[in-house]
Amino acid sequence: MDEHFCRACILLCMDFRLHEHLDAFMTRHGLGADRADVIRVAGAVKSLARPDDPRDRERLLEMFTVSYELHHAREFHLVNHEDCGAYGLEKIADDEREIETHRGDLRRAREVLAERFPDVEVHCHFAWLDGDIECVD
Ligand SMILES: [Zn+2]
Repeated sequence: MDEHFCRACILLCMDFRLHEHLDAFMTRHGLGADRADVIRVAGAVKSLARPDDPRDRERLLEMFTVSYELHHAREFHLVNHEDCGAYGLEKIADDEREIETHRGDLRRAREVLAERFPDVEVHCHFAWLDGDIECVD
């Protein structure tokens, strides 16, 4: 059964520009050794925070449920990122406005997950494309 155990589940955007940062992120959070499930969808938490279609949120929650029930993950990491095409923010030059939008969605997504999985720790992060990933409280 050990092979079906992992510590965490990470949700991040499908954007190819994040590929190279994922390993460093996992190492920094000690997830390399303890293993983690990875969910990659366009926009990351957008469909949890304010889905265009409620079924999008349910599909994401189903994936977290698999990680929770089958793999026993009790730590979720949510990673949104700079210049995300799913947000259509490419034209916004103001980094502060952009990151505030993401912070709001990350916090809302954390509430949605905490409601469904009360015993899970949910951590929010914002990734800059230069590889810097900051925590969002
Ligand atoms: Zn994206």
